[in-house]
Amino acid sequence: MDKFYITTPIYYVNDVPHIGHAYTTIACDVQARFHRLLGKAVFFLTGTDEHGQKVQKSALTRGLSPKAHADRLIENFKSLWTALNISNDAFIRTTDKEHAAVVQTMMQQLKDSGDIVRRQYEGWYCTHDEMFLAKDDLKDNQCPHCHRDVEHIKEDNYFFLMGKYQDRLIEHIESHPDFILPRTRRNEVLGFLKNAELGDLCISRPVQRLSWGIPLPFDQDYVTYVWFDALSNYYSATRYLSPMRYSVEWWPSEHHVIGKDILITHSIYWSTMLFALGWPLPHNIFAHGWWTVDGRKMSKSIGNVVDPLEMIQTYGVDPFRYFLLKEVPFGLDGNFSREALINRINSELANDFGNLANRVIAMVFKYFGGKVPEPVQEETAMKTLAEGILDRMQDALKTFAFHQALDAIWELVSHTNKYIDETAPWRLAKDPQHKERLQTVMYSVIEALRFLAMYLHPFMPESTQKLWEQLGQQSQLAEVNLIDKAKWGKLLPGTLVHKGKPLFPRIDK
Ligand SMILES: [Zn+2]
Repeated sequence: MDKFYITTPIYYVNDVPHIGHAYTTIACDVQARFHRLLGKAVFFLTGTDEHGQKVQKSALTRGLSPKAHADRLIENFKSLWTALNISNDAFIRTTDKEHAAVVQTMMQQLKDSGDIVRRQYEGWYCTHDEMFLAKDDLKDNQCPHCHRDVEHIKEDNYFFLMGKYQDRLIEHIESHPDFILPRTRRNEVLGFLKNAELGDLCISRPVQRLSWGIPLPFDQDYVTYVWFDALSNYYSATRYLSPMRYSVEWWPSEHHVIGKDILITHSIYWSTMLFALGWPLPHNIFAHGWWTVDGRKMSKSIGNVVDPLEMIQTYGVDPFRYFLLKEVPFGLDGNFSREALINRINSELANDFGNLANRVIAMVFKYFGGKVPEPVQEETAMKTLAEGILDRMQDALKTFAFHQALDAIWELVSHTNKYIDETAPWRLAKDPQHKERLQTVMYSVIEALRFLAMYLHPFMPESTQKLWEQLGQQSQLAEVNLIDKAKWGKLLPGTLVHKGKPLFPRIDK
């Protein structure tokens, strides 16, 4: 059985979920839902990163243990995923004891093979970013990232000898053109690797400075946290959280989907760790772009942070999902504005698509008492277009070109609208001589709606399920197999359709 394993990053548990988190997770959800419709074994993983100094500190100020603090905060993410109709198969927490056990096994293996060594470290350290800094990194003696004061420290730590694998990683990226996408990001990583020597990666902290991490299996005075702990989640989840109904080996993943800010850590730290372990690398790491809001960077101080919950309360879940993936090619930066969202809802969803569904169902009632008529001819142009979209979607989603998949689907929306205008069923209905033609016309447009419900389901699961029911389909759309059902003529004549509320109400500006 073909399998499809896709991951979001694990989100930092202290963060307040915003449009960026929603964007990554919705994109993965569309991929997961689409591949389930193709009949594949799918594992869609998301979760939270819960170790580190910032979590320990903020728990302390609230008088909670770090774990109790994290237990509360994960609800921010879990409830948002429920509200956004995210179909993740599992939610991993780096505080899971099973995860910790896998991380310890990995570390022990690397210690035994000589890829992890103990060394003295002397230099500067930014507590806020939990990052070691070289003298040259400092800006006016402060951290270049957060502009806070840094500490000078001298201590023993454990290092992963990442630099050993630099040449092998360059070769891997060059011989696997789809390993890092989009291409511009791949070139960025290659440029970075070719122009700088990879140092060794410090992967530990002494317990007296930071206790909120996973204890090193070979030295109880140290813990590991953040990168080594976090990146390992993609593998550890396959050991204890993957869907049990499939007997497949989930590792390596098909896709790690991330924001572009964590591309270096994913493509370099994680890949070299996997080389050292002797395990296969993920097939693809896809780094998407960022959203600005009304042309400005999103920030708390400007007060323009987009709250996904507010968006879905105001505009609906499906329109929000649709907008994010249609507005901007995934991979590029985009600009979010309510005006653009409302425009797309009104013109594309309410007008082009929603209206089409309404009109067609109303006409089936008017001319055929709500029963799907028997077609007399096959409308080959419409059939070819409708069936052909499946391949086009598969091609587009291979490279996360959601907008192209939607463009392909929208050709069928436009074609069907035009077909109704040209065939004018209301005129055919006036003349009993045209009864057969009317049957063909009405069958074809309802059949087109059935294709639209299936193809748009990964993007807009709730509204398409409603449409599916209006089309008299008994099954759950999420359980349909596209390979079987995306064939023209599968809609049975005689099926009773149902009237329903408009799928996408217009929004007043
Ligand atoms: Zn800093």
